[in-house]
Amino acid sequence: MNTRLRIAVQSKGRLNEDTLRLLTEAGIKVEAGRRALLVEARKFPLEVLFLRDDDIPQTVADGVADAGIVGMNELTEQGARAEVAHRLGFGGCRLSIAVPKEADYTDVSWLENKKIATSYPNILQRFLESQGVHAHIHVITGSVEIATGIGLADAIFDIVSSGSTLVSNNLREVEVVMQSEAVLIAQPELSAEKREILDELIFRFKALQGAAGKKYVLMNVPKEALDSVLHELSGIKSPTVMPLAQEGWCSVHTVLEEDSFWEKVGRLKEAGAQGILVLPIEKMVL
Ligand code: ATP
Ligand code: MG
Repeated sequence: MNTRLRIAVQSKGRLNEDTLRLLTEAGIKVEAGRRALLVEARKFPLEVLFLRDDDIPQTVADGVADAGIVGMNELTEQGARAEVAHRLGFGGCRLSIAVPKEADYTDVSWLENKKIATSYPNILQRFLESQGVHAHIHVITGSVEIATGIGLADAIFDIVSSGSTLVSNNLREVEVVMQSEAVLIAQPELSAEKREILDELIFRFKALQGAAGKKYVLMNVPKEALDSVLHELSGIKSPTVMPLAQEGWCSVHTVLEEDSFWEKVGRLKEAGAQGILVLPIEKMVL
């Protein structure tokens, strides 16, 4: 029987869509339409186990799954024995303490003897200990953000991404305790065959992440403007310069970060570049 790597992913929720998209872009087809618990991938020696995210770290630590994709927050909270094999760059969020907007909070000592509602008691406990603060942790599993409004707690400790949930519940973020993102985790004692499949998976993920936010840019440049155009591109790894059929012109190819694209493009035009073409980059193998 051929060895397959079993990977646990969230069956529904915030990480599900990005996880399946990542696998698809990595050339691994998973029939997510069939709502089965365990699905064999096509074109890659992988089987996908669909679980609630809470169950993923332990399932990997126990070796029921070989690998998993889960939020770093969930892994840290559970302290499960699984290694972080790769950071995936999506599902970004932070775990923060928030207090009612009007509270006279100045520093962590405000939390002394207060009641804090959270779904992440272990991370919170560790933070409070590190700060030498004693508080009462009240564990609730959902809708933590309403806990202060209904008088259940003085503060909350919860996931924050944009902060809009806090604002709409009259809360103010006062301490960022940890940053989180989705991570690929692995059972620490994988067989050599499974480790090889995991490494191939990481290789493909890296190629996709390497291309994220980057564009392939081509432009026509008259020879006399070449130096100033290349000057604008300095700091970028070796642009390609090729002669055009038309005498006195060349074509410059390079990779630009999408973030700085508009600013760069204005300067390139000023330097003499024309006919600037921008193409998406799908994958980048370094
Ligand atoms: P499940 O039903 O699988 O237990 P859940 O309700 O516990 O799902 P989700 O809300 O789907 O969890 O969130 C999964 C993960 O997505 C979080 O643990 C966190 O790592 C990440 N995440 C990113 N942004 C946010 C956000 N704004 N709110 C909640 N989770 C977020
Ligand atoms: Mg959950």
